[in-house]
Amino acid sequence: MTQPLLSDHPLPAFGAIEPAQVEPALRELLDANRAAIAALLDAGADGWDTLVVPIEHMHHRLARAWSPVSHLNGVMNSEALRAAYNACLPLLTAYHTALGQNERLCAAYQGVADREGAALRPEQRKVVENALRDFRLAGVSLPPERKRRFGEVMERLATAQAKFDENVLDATHAFSRHVTDAAEIEGLPANALQRAREAAAAAGKDGWLLSLDAPTYQAVLSHAVSEPLRREFYEAWVTRASDRGRHAGQWDNGPLMAEILALRHEAANLVGFANFAEYSLATKMARDPAEVIEFLHELARVSRPAAEREFAELERFAGRTLASWDVGFYSERMRKERLQLSEEALRPYFPLPRVLAGLFAVVHRLYGVRIVANPAVETYHPDVRFFDVLDRDDTPRGGFFLDLYARPKKRGGAWMDECVGRLRLAGASALPIAYLVCNFSPPAGEQPSLLTHYEVLTLFHEFGHGLHHLLTRVDVPSVAGINGVPWDAVELPSQFMENFAWRDEVLPLVSAHVETGEALPHDMLARLQASRTFQAGMQTVRQLEFALFDFRLHAGYAPGAPRINETLAEVREAVSVLRPPEFNRFPHSFQHVFSGGYAAGYYSYKWAEVLSADAFGAFEEHGVFDAATARRFLSAILERGGSRDAMEAFVEFRGRKPEIGPLLRQMGLAA
Ligand SMILES: [Zn+2]
Repeated sequence: MTQPLLSDHPLPAFGAIEPAQVEPALRELLDANRAAIAALLDAGADGWDTLVVPIEHMHHRLARAWSPVSHLNGVMNSEALRAAYNACLPLLTAYHTALGQNERLCAAYQGVADREGAALRPEQRKVVENALRDFRLAGVSLPPERKRRFGEVMERLATAQAKFDENVLDATHAFSRHVTDAAEIEGLPANALQRAREAAAAAGKDGWLLSLDAPTYQAVLSHAVSEPLRREFYEAWVTRASDRGRHAGQWDNGPLMAEILALRHEAANLVGFANFAEYSLATKMARDPAEVIEFLHELARVSRPAAEREFAELERFAGRTLASWDVGFYSERMRKERLQLSEEALRPYFPLPRVLAGLFAVVHRLYGVRIVANPAVETYHPDVRFFDVLDRDDTPRGGFFLDLYARPKKRGGAWMDECVGRLRLAGASALPIAYLVCNFSPPAGEQPSLLTHYEVLTLFHEFGHGLHHLLTRVDVPSVAGINGVPWDAVELPSQFMENFAWRDEVLPLVSAHVETGEALPHDMLARLQASRTFQAGMQTVRQLEFALFDFRLHAGYAPGAPRINETLAEVREAVSVLRPPEFNRFPHSFQHVFSGGYAAGYYSYKWAEVLSADAFGAFEEHGVFDAATARRFLSAILERGGSRDAMEAFVEFRGRKPEIGPLLRQMGLAA
């Protein structure tokens, strides 16, 4: 009886995975890895072939065993699987901490660098450099007492961050609003009303029951005619998990935020950095805090005057002074009136099968690969399909699971994840396999799923990540595909792909009216393109407010004085055009920064947007389907993964360092 998670089959056997087998399988793998590493060290292994290659194999095997578990936990969640998943997380954390602090292992990698460094190929050198960097960041050379403290800090940090998330979740779920008078919900779109009807019926109530999930919140703020209703939802949203609002103090994240900042600062200090911002940049493309701050302020200098103009225009349009809860509502009205465009009216032009066929055609023209459905592959749900990626000569290059429809027990949002990484080492090989996940509305009866243009962009975005993973030519898994790519560069291929979905050359390929088959008419296409720069200044300063708040909070941290509200107030003074009310406690639910991976890294979104707009600029100069430009992008960026410095890769493609101009022109913000 073989364990499905430990099998060497190229694709996961989803149907055979039993939650009860997960923890034993993981324990077996981790024990085997620990024993194998100890044996390598006992044998004195300190060469690329004798040390690094076996370890790359072990971690490839661990990653491909864990990947389907973590994926199913996200898209086919069940009580049993969730319990198994949660039981495994601490085992994995402990394994990685011990590995990062293993002095003998670190010395062995140092041995590889010292003896073979000059003879190693560039991607091999990168693997060894990254490993040595990560040992340092895990505190490998600290005296035992400080090493132990570093481990404690990391463990407490993980718990505190998880608790921060739970508080936000509980506070969000605690709010609901019962409505019996239809006049109060005037303006809400039909799908939001439908959900609220069903929620009320499920709770045995008449009328509508509105909850505080993101789609409902967005619908109320953008469409509800009633100002008191908008204000009520705004207040509930921005006071979640705080000392203000209806549930003030009940799930207050305030103390946790102070603790999280203190722990991060301590961890950074322990391993030799002045603050957590410097620690965060040790693995990123940006060189130092000054460069990040200067970058964000440069963007602010150009976008703030535009944002002020746009806001004044919006107030003129509304004929009144606007509060925070009015901006979304009047912006939506102005957009409709000025551009004569609504996302809902675009849907019939973007049936999913047409969008997919068009996307695959674009990829084929750019990179020569063919994408073909392979119904023989076992998936984990009837809606999920598998596709092979084939080279020009039909050699398989990789494949992906495409999971596009919303369903119960599936996490919201859209993402790409690695199922299997590419590997070609010491006679063994594996092709890259990806998961591409979205949450579009499922087909209704005979009618295919119809996408908004925003959803078309989402699909292109995730497919860009997918190509980065699937087209890699790197043979060593830890720097193949998206692995080893700095956080502030990883959105380059994805944001880059989005650009195609705005173009005259591409929109006819991805649109065909669901009834008439007619491509998006020219006037609608032009209005759609015009909408790209609508309120670009206001959108930019909002992102800058988040990014500067996050970065300055970590860079300027002084022990005992987290200055959370003060920092936010200073940042708003510097960049924002709208002053939120006193009760606003937005940081208390800012999960990207307090519990997610974006701590001292929220700036990455804008940073990578500069790279992607500038990279796309080369296609604008030479033609969207220019073969030579596409070949250069493929070989310099997509195929290289994390095997080389991100800035060097960009310079190889563009012939110079990135410039901010193309992004400003794209957003309509250029002077
Ligand atoms: Zn992305």
